[in-house]
Amino acid sequence: VWKVEQAVAWIEKTNALIQSNKEYLTELDQAIGDGDHGLNMSRGFQEAEAKVSSTDYDTIADVFKDTATVLMSKVGGASGPLYGTAFLKMSMVLKGKDPVTQAEFADAVEEALNGIKQRGKADQGEKTMIDVWHPVADFLKNGQNVQAEKLEETAQQAMENTKDTLATKGRAAYLQERSRGHVDPGSTSSFYLFQALADVWK
Ligand code: ADP
Ligand code: MG
Ligand code: MG
Repeated sequence: VWKVEQAVAWIEKTNALIQSNKEYLTELDQAIGDGDHGLNMSRGFQEAEAKVSSTDYDTIADVFKDTATVLMSKVGGASGPLYGTAFLKMSMVLKGKDPVTQAEFADAVEEALNGIKQRGKADQGEKTMIDVWHPVADFLKNGQNVQAEKLEETAQQAMENTKDTLATKGRAAYLQERSRGHVDPGSTSSFYLFQALADVWK
């Protein structure tokens, strides 16, 4: 069961992971993109954390709505609208539901995934953040009682699996076969998001 405090803690912990791995995200995006993913994510989540930790919220939906607004306006790039859409969808699904149950939260993540797919016109297996969101959404949906360690493992494995795949969406797609052998930057930032979620879940 989730309350406002957990939702705020999720954003704070995600931000901490993004800030401490900013250079690594930059390196990943230098290899198969334009090298700005570390900067994009650190700017966006810094602002999102500042916003949600300084505001008094009555509902989880409002926490995610503000997060979405900040991410959309501050992250930029391809990932900004995609993460923004994800949080906006979660906010819509969870509207009027406080506290939030595990099943409701799973529904929210599934709708976020659908939103990312629609917005990015992409599907699983194209070497994008979807490759992490998809298995995590499935895992949350199927789990009777979700274990934090398994949640983190699922996200980490999914992120690592992007290394060998061929990019067919996003900037990495321009590299064609040369996109193989590198982990996808957006899958890595999504892994941090779910690592933070697992931490809050404990
Ligand atoms: P940009 O590529 O515009 O510089 P970022 O570097 O911030 O934006 O984000 C790149 C990440 O966004 C990629 O690693 C990938 O995970 C994700 N991404 C890019 N295009 C798409 C898409 N069409 N659908 C889903 N995710 C995408
Ligand atoms: Mg980039
Ligand atoms: Mg860019």
